Amino acid sequence: MLTSLAEAATRARPAYRSFRVQVSRVERLAPHFTSVTFAGDELGDFGTAGLDQRVKVVLPLPEIGFAAFPDGEDWYSAWRELPGELRNPFRTYTVRAVRPEQREVDIVFVAHGDAGPASAWAEAAAPGDEIVLIGPDERSPGRTVGIDWRPGNVETLLLAGDETAAPAIASILESLPADATGVALIEVPAAGDRLDVRAPAGVEVRWLPRAESGCTHGDRLVPAVRDWVVRHMAARGLTADAADAVEVTDTADAEPVDLDSPLWDVPDGHSLDGDCYAWLAGEASAITTLRRFLVREAGLDRRQVAFMGYWRMGRAELD
Ligand SMILES: Cc1cc2nc3c(=O)[nH]c(=O)nc-3n(C[C@H](O)[C@H](O)[C@H](O)COP(=O)(O)OP(=O)(O)OC[C@H]3O[C@@H](n4cnc5c(N)ncnc54)[C@H](O)[C@@H]3O)c2cc1C
Repeated sequence: MLTSLAEAATRARPAYRSFRVQVSRVERLAPHFTSVTFAGDELGDFGTAGLDQRVKVVLPLPEIGFAAFPDGEDWYSAWRELPGELRNPFRTYTVRAVRPEQREVDIVFVAHGDAGPASAWAEAAAPGDEIVLIGPDERSPGRTVGIDWRPGNVETLLLAGDETAAPAIASILESLPADATGVALIEVPAAGDRLDVRAPAGVEVRWLPRAESGCTHGDRLVPAVRDWVVRHMAARGLTADAADAVEVTDTADAEPVDLDSPLWDVPDGHSLDGDCYAWLAGEASAITTLRRFLVREAGLDRRQVAFMGYWRMGRAELD
């Protein structure tokens, strides 16, 4: 009887829930990366599945903080019912590290000025600041909800993203088996913007700073992915002519790939086998260009490409 009651409680537990926490440490890792450590008794139950697991960071309102923020399983519906001035803003981030014994969670924030509430909050964050995380509950059967890294059993891994994807890429790399092979291409604002990353010997990690060349999001990442794919294809016997013909195009011709939902497409990779799995995340138009290139030009099966527009230039997350 006790067992079945415990099982029923586990089944009923929501995969994601709110955790009320405080900032315990702030560390500037690089010119545009700040690590914020959150602490709180409830974090002993925070999900530890890692990889690219996403969470919501709920930000305080001036004067009232979180007084109006609805906890509970259906927090989102309740939040939507609130008048605009009582709705705490929230944004999506990646869990960089979880230490349940210490009841701590780390998130790495990209500094992109004070145009957005999350970036502005992180720039000013200090120990003692209160915040709410909406994250996975380790005790829930759905604790891996929000993980999009599903490479199956493919031979070669291609991870590509901008600075907002760097925390996820770092966590994924740390989880790979020692014999994994592939490349991680990470575009960042400046030459000093590197995170400490432990990757298997067979996975090259390349940081691509934009600053020196004065270029914009995607200008370094798109050609780097193209060059790597062309070399990867050539090494598998593709003729030089065919490889030369691989070019990035940005046309929106009708074709079998479903681009109706152009920001997010994550295939279920559980039964995936074969040559290459690509995980792409970052600014939406750069990532869209990369996905088109991989699927339309390089001929990857769309089930081999996880594609995630993490943010859109000129648009706040909740627009
Ligand atoms: C699954 C997922 C995981 C993510 N993980 C992380 C993470 O670990 N760390 C992280 O820093 N971000 C991460 N992001 C991206 C983050 O959610 C966005 O950058 C978000 O817009 C930041 O909120 P904001 O309040 O600072 O800006 P918003 O209010 O959303 O936007 C304000 C303005 O800033 C612009 N903007 C937003 N982000 C950037 C940027 N990075 N550079 C330049 N301009 C920008 C917008 O286009 C808009 O014009 C993730 C996103 C997703 C979907």
